[in-house]
Amino acid sequence: MTGRTLNTSLTSLAPSRQPTVVPQQGAGLRDRLQRPLRDLRISVTDRCNFRCTYCMPREVFGSDHEFLPQPQLLSFEEIVRVATIAVQMGVQKIRLTGGEPLLRKHIENLIALLAQLRTPEGKPVELAMTTNATLLAQKAQSIKDAGLNRVTVSLDALDSARFTQLSDSQVAVERVLAGIEKAAEVGLAPVKVNMVVRKGINDDQIIPMARYFKGRGHALRFIEYMDVGNTNGWNMDEVLTGAEIVAILAQEFDIQPVASEYYGEVADRYRYTDGSGEFGIITSVSNPFCGDCTRMRLSPEGQFFLCLFASRGYDVRHLLRSQATNNEVAAYLMEVWSGRADRYSELRGQHQGPREKIEMSYIGG
Ligand code: SAM
Ligand code: SF4
Ligand code: SF4
Repeated sequence: MTGRTLNTSLTSLAPSRQPTVVPQQGAGLRDRLQRPLRDLRISVTDRCNFRCTYCMPREVFGSDHEFLPQPQLLSFEEIVRVATIAVQMGVQKIRLTGGEPLLRKHIENLIALLAQLRTPEGKPVELAMTTNATLLAQKAQSIKDAGLNRVTVSLDALDSARFTQLSDSQVAVERVLAGIEKAAEVGLAPVKVNMVVRKGINDDQIIPMARYFKGRGHALRFIEYMDVGNTNGWNMDEVLTGAEIVAILAQEFDIQPVASEYYGEVADRYRYTDGSGEFGIITSVSNPFCGDCTRMRLSPEGQFFLCLFASRGYDVRHLLRSQATNNEVAAYLMEVWSGRADRYSELRGQHQGPREKIEMSYIGG
């Protein structure tokens, strides 16, 4: 199909999401919708050096905002204790996030401890990080050496003025790009690059971003703008759907959908037919994937969250800081996960009235 002459229905570009098949390996712990626990996302800090307007708007996260005091944060030992138990329960992937995870002092030490974890089958746990990459060029080698496998970098514009405006920071976009290259160079690959697309705000950056990353070996993923948190004034009018994003790309490039590779894969993938690479689309709003959601989140001060849009967490820190045994912590984790029925995105629009939601900068993406 030739993108520039696209005049057929976009159904040929519909993602080939495969039916949900619940894996049997490691079967055991399931939530109320029969979803296994496979991923743990650990938010290591609620602080960030950016003030992305959709995540930490400066009006709310200004100089008088109170971040969590250090003693309230889980220590590395506490995080590793929870992660060790979660891995015994089925977790195979751990992602460090925040806030900005590279701002957490000595993050390499945490990575080194997590890198030693093994699943009950003896496999190493896959260790990744989501970062704004401002510190990535200087830290890539040390986090790789500590045992990190991959990074995902968030970048919403290539144009430098637009980047400054969207991140509400003085950081130059070149610094992020240098971070991405350094990460790839040291082997934190493939580097994924996440772009949150907002209609009328940065949709003009879709093609420049695609053109820039095409052929560089980094996997660009376009993400629908989500109604996370309560501070960003989210509005459906600002959501450019995955189908609309694909249509924009199809006008410029020859592209084809690619079959999904593994259970729980969140991005619908497409390839450039000239062989210059792939991109992904994450349709959390227009085509949610709650049925495959195997992710548990751990907040900086030790609460389990079962959904990005949750109103409440489950405090595990009090167990860690009491005399609780590992078996008791494990029993709590099992109780929390087995009671889970969250599927916010599938029910979006049916919720009545205002709802308190956790902020993305606190729990991470
Ligand atoms: N600071 C790190 C970063 O930006 O990569 C990690 C934490 S950040 C909260 C994780 C991801 O959440 C980023 O990729 C960011 O773009 C995404 N994000 C934040 N708010 C969002 C929203 N309203 N809709 C979609 N993605 C969002
Ligand atoms: Fe910081 Fe990431 Fe939120 Fe931007 S998206 S304000 S970089 S936590
Ligand atoms: Fe998972 Fe909640 Fe997102 Fe659904 S809305 S995919 S349950 S985090």
